Amino acid sequence: MARVDVGYLPQGNPCAQCGKPIATPEWTESGPQRTSYLWHCLACDYQFEAVAFFDEPTSDSEPLAA
Ligand SMILES: [Zn+2]
Repeated sequence: MARVDVGYLPQGNPCAQCGKPIATPEWTESGPQRTSYLWHCLACDYQFEAVAFFDEPTSDSEPLAA
């Protein structure tokens, strides 16, 4: 699986159906550790969603058990 850096916005993603590049996602939704992208191909009207997962920000301090 490919790793995706934080802040990376995919552009020119090829359509999963016809292979034509799609300039920008039509819609994005950011979560705590992931971002969902909705791609809409204007050539063949195909829509598909891609999700990028991010690593959880790590802290130097370990959580302390009470
Ligand atoms: Zn297409």
